[in-house]
Amino acid sequence: MGAIAPPIYLTSNFKFETFEQEQAYEYSRTANPTRDLLADTVAKLECGAGAVVTSSGMAAINLVLGLLKQGDIVVAPRDCYGGTHRLLSSLCDRGVIKVTFVDQGDTMALIEAFYPMPALVLIETPSNPLMRVADIRAISELARQAGSKVAVDNTFLSPALQHPIELGADFVIHSTTKYLNGHSDVVGGAVVAADKNDLQSLRSWANITGVTGSPFDSYLTLRGIRTLYPRIERQQATAQLVASFLSEHLKVAAVHYPGLSTHPGHDLATRQQLGFGAMLSFELKGGLQAVRCFVAAIRVFTLAESLGGVESLVAHPATMTHVGMGPEARMAAGITDSLLRLSIGLEAEVDLISDLERSLASIA
Ligand code: PLP
Repeated sequence: MGAIAPPIYLTSNFKFETFEQEQAYEYSRTANPTRDLLADTVAKLECGAGAVVTSSGMAAINLVLGLLKQGDIVVAPRDCYGGTHRLLSSLCDRGVIKVTFVDQGDTMALIEAFYPMPALVLIETPSNPLMRVADIRAISELARQAGSKVAVDNTFLSPALQHPIELGADFVIHSTTKYLNGHSDVVGGAVVAADKNDLQSLRSWANITGVTGSPFDSYLTLRGIRTLYPRIERQQATAQLVASFLSEHLKVAAVHYPGLSTHPGHDLATRQQLGFGAMLSFELKGGLQAVRCFVAAIRVFTLAESLGGVESLVAHPATMTHVGMGPEARMAAGITDSLLRLSIGLEAEVDLISDLERSLASIA
């Protein structure tokens, strides 16, 4: 028909031509043309064999974990999205899998974690919320020697800025809720597989467990992806300016942004990534009281969870995105009560920086 915008197939089921013949589309939990178009798009952007689109980012992580057997070991980053930490800890507490949380920047700790032959290594780089950068190529090489699969959560950078499969990963995970959709109006996820057999296993388990995404969400995400590259280009240029501004401010104790030459992961990020992204976090001097004053004064940024949309957000990980981790795990990860996370949107940089300036000035 030549439609420029892809059609949306809002249907739960499809007519069978005859009852004895398998057909491409039968029931939308199993396959739907709109969702398939999104899966193919994400797989192409990530240079994978194919993808499965899920109903959320957590469903995407759970789908990969669903390929494991009882008692399998997972190596995961100590500093990762709170929901990922909670899922892994819950599965571990129930005796489904064993989990070793490590600092993925610590080579000796990583080598030690590979001794018991983990089935899966989960990498989140840059990590949420501390923006630590893990070496995907080096970890994938260690994993290959140990016979482990590697899954990289690429939510923070998107395929516009990082290609984990080209660096040796077996799976790429996305919360498409974030940069891929980019408009804060969908919750969704995706898993891309490098290998066709793994893709088949993912498809089969996604159908069995019913975690696939809806056609309407897929349609919206496809619409968002069309502007992914210019959005992220502009957002990361502003993030670099915001990070520089914060790093020179007297009321700021630390800034975590790989685009700063002082960041411990700067050189690795320069090699591994195509850009530094638009997420950053910073620590205020003055603890929780300073955070209260800052958050009460902020106007252009919105206090909210999630990230990767066109509007700038500020979050307090200890009480919001990472509250489910518990205080001990947060302390082990280095997530303090003074930490704030920023997702930089598409507003004018001058408005964002003056909002930060005014809010920092409000701290007594
Ligand atoms: N991975 C990362 C890095 C995240 O930041 C999030 C959510 O914030 C998720 C996964 C989970 O995604 P969702 O909220 O779409 O389930």
